[in-house]
Amino acid sequence: MTHSDKNKAFWLSRRSAFVFLGGGAVFTSGALVANGFGKDPQTTDADTSHATSDAPKTAPGFDTLSQNQWQNLTKADWRDRLSEDAYKILRNEATERPFSSSLNDEKRDGWFACAGCGQILFTSDQKYNSGTGWPSFSDAIPGRLKTKADRKLFYTRTEYHCSRCGGHQGHVFDDGPKPTGKRWCNNGDALVFVPEADLS
Ligand SMILES: [Zn+2]
Repeated sequence: MTHSDKNKAFWLSRRSAFVFLGGGAVFTSGALVANGFGKDPQTTDADTSHATSDAPKTAPGFDTLSQNQWQNLTKADWRDRLSEDAYKILRNEATERPFSSSLNDEKRDGWFACAGCGQILFTSDQKYNSGTGWPSFSDAIPGRLKTKADRKLFYTRTEYHCSRCGGHQGHVFDDGPKPTGKRWCNNGDALVFVPEADLS
């Protein structure tokens, strides 16, 4: 089975019944946040309390390509690698319907990786229940996400992408729990969960 086949099988097995994204609906990430619009949080904040320095780089089962190779994949390449829903999020910056991802309730120890290239982005220690309906994290593994201003709505949000393949993951807000105060609001279909046992 090729990686591509495995990916397809994986996605087909977890695709939700929603075809909601086809309507072009755009969801805001929970309540509108009155502060922090337009800020550009750094992903390499030094105040992280999590031991992320020994985080593995890549989830099992993904191709080993250079950053250049990942970023030079064509739209056709990505369509071949991703489910339709994941493609819309990762490559077209769509947002999934809230409460649609099984990762909302994922509480096991492990890692959350980019569903595009497999780069591990978050630890399970960084996940918390924000109540918004999207998998949420109070921090991210340093250096694996890049932010940019998103002006698609009437106010500016800060969106973030996987630093390796450029896949869109979600938006980051300033209403998260201490000590970071951040809420990394991620699309579940843009992530793959890797149980700790799978990497140990
Ligand atoms: Zn990626």
